Amino acid sequence: MDDLPIREELRGKSPYGAPQLDVPVQLNTNENPYPLPEPLVERIAERVREAARSLNRYPDRDAVELRTALAAYLTRTAGHTVGPANVWAANGSNEVLQQLLQTFGGPGRTAIGFEPSYSMHALISRGTGTGWISGPRGEDFTIDRAAAERAIAGQRPDVVFITSPNNPTGTAVDADTVLALYEAAQAAGPSLVVVDEAYVEFSHRPSLLPLIEGRPHLVISRTMSKAFGAAGLRLGYLAAHPAVVDAVQLVRLPYHLSAVTQATALAALEHTDTLLGYVEQLKAERDRLVTELRAIGYEVTESDANFVQFGRFEGEGAAHEAWRKILGHGVLVRDNGVPGRLRVTVGTPAENDAFLDAVRELKKEQSA
Ligand code: PMP
Repeated sequence: MDDLPIREELRGKSPYGAPQLDVPVQLNTNENPYPLPEPLVERIAERVREAARSLNRYPDRDAVELRTALAAYLTRTAGHTVGPANVWAANGSNEVLQQLLQTFGGPGRTAIGFEPSYSMHALISRGTGTGWISGPRGEDFTIDRAAAERAIAGQRPDVVFITSPNNPTGTAVDADTVLALYEAAQAAGPSLVVVDEAYVEFSHRPSLLPLIEGRPHLVISRTMSKAFGAAGLRLGYLAAHPAVVDAVQLVRLPYHLSAVTQATALAALEHTDTLLGYVEQLKAERDRLVTELRAIGYEVTESDANFVQFGRFEGEGAAHEAWRKILGHGVLVRDNGVPGRLRVTVGTPAENDAFLDAVRELKKEQSA
């Protein structure tokens, strides 16, 4: 429909779309491969049954019980004390990021990210009318601090995205780099610096949460989709100075977080220790994948996440051709468009073995 009167900047664009193909081994969307344990499923049912009794009423608009539980989780695991006034929750961290861009970005404003990185930062920017600036990343996929500082000083963005660990490369960002970019952003702006820590529970490094102390323009974004194995729940959250939480209230829809979502998330948080046990298993499997991929002869980017970027596939379209061949072995990985590289999500040991068999075959074919 060429005459659909949509906004000019959306015309001819493609939506976010990781292929959802029905193959035996799906390692393409960085999901946690472990279903929630049965006692947690029971607890969710209990909590949701309780919530169902008052579904005739709107939910707690401020989600105070949930924000208190999320603050307790962060305080216990991320090395810094926060309270409910520091925490805000929404339907997935994508919605958290959207609310931040609606509040701090918008028409006439810009956001920067260091690419390749999480593609939704650019897409949500576009959706909120925020101009997008593609910032630089080094050859080894780390953030080149001096180049990033120059980009911030030169472009004066209103929002700065730092993804740590970064998706799709797996690369973590050190605290000194975040502090340097925060300083550069305050000197140029002041602007809001958003550290997207969707995968931080899988990292070798501690959370950057303690950096919010004394830095009112720094936001840490988190999700229950990965470490908590609850991608279907749609629960993301942020931690920041209470003024940021207050500001976001200006754009959030009333009662955005359903009573069912709040009840389910609270149940999951009661089972934090069990779920973090799975994270430990996934970290060990991640390290095994890195070691085995290198032994097969692939180049692997250091990973602090529940996925691994590998290659190098030389030549135009070679990564996509490799993606297709791996799919031929019944294993779905992700081609994020990074030249010569593919990304595999860490699955169960059996899924990882199937993936390793597939890429071993691929290597044989390619060196034959
Ligand atoms: N940030 C990053 C870096 C991600 O990779 C993802 C999901 N893949 C998200 C945020 C969004 O996750 P969710 O909306 O499920 O919380």
